[in-house]
Amino acid sequence: MAGNGETNGVAREEEGQKRVGVLALQGDFREHAEILRGLGVEPVEVRAVEDLEGLAGIIVPGGESTTIGKMMVSSGLLDGIRSYYYKGGPVWGTCAGMVLAASATTGPRQPLLGLMNALVERNGFGRQVHSFEADLEVDGFEEPFTGVFIRAPFFEDVGPGVEVLSKVGDRVVAARGENILVTAFHPELTDDVRFHEYFLREVCSI
Ligand code: GLN
Repeated sequence: MAGNGETNGVAREEEGQKRVGVLALQGDFREHAEILRGLGVEPVEVRAVEDLEGLAGIIVPGGESTTIGKMMVSSGLLDGIRSYYYKGGPVWGTCAGMVLAASATTGPRQPLLGLMNALVERNGFGRQVHSFEADLEVDGFEEPFTGVFIRAPFFEDVGPGVEVLSKVGDRVVAARGENILVTAFHPELTDDVRFHEYFLREVCSI
């Protein structure tokens, strides 16, 4: 009864699915998987298009967005994740994942998923400070969230359909659309699981 191999496409809440994917081509996917497990969700390491079947959501982790992008092209996952998203599949991009989620970059051409109407500045904080922590005010969170930024991007501009959740100065560092969330920082590198809970509850509806 537990099997759902025949599920074609995106899992629906009523099917009781609690499997959430973590793109596992490169980067810090293991940390996300561990937190998901702690929250009672089964993490699925996604390396091929077939792995997307029946997932209640997918996290695109931090790492190197150019490397992850190239590997997504060669594995077919660039189109696979786009298709998953456009069928209503929930996506969360952290750091490199936020770069990949954007529709355009200020930098050199690189493969992007282009799911979010936004212009991203890759390594936006990079030239000033390589990595830093900041206590962020986040829309919908009662207490500030400590963001760990590592060669982090930011959204310079966002278009219609993008709701800004947090900023550092005038730089957008967390945002969401109907079935997408992005964070420029790394919630998986802290003990604070509120962003993972937010993704599961507000974006995946599980
Ligand atoms: N600057 C990196 C990139 O563009 C992202 C860094 C990270 O994910 N920690 O891919």
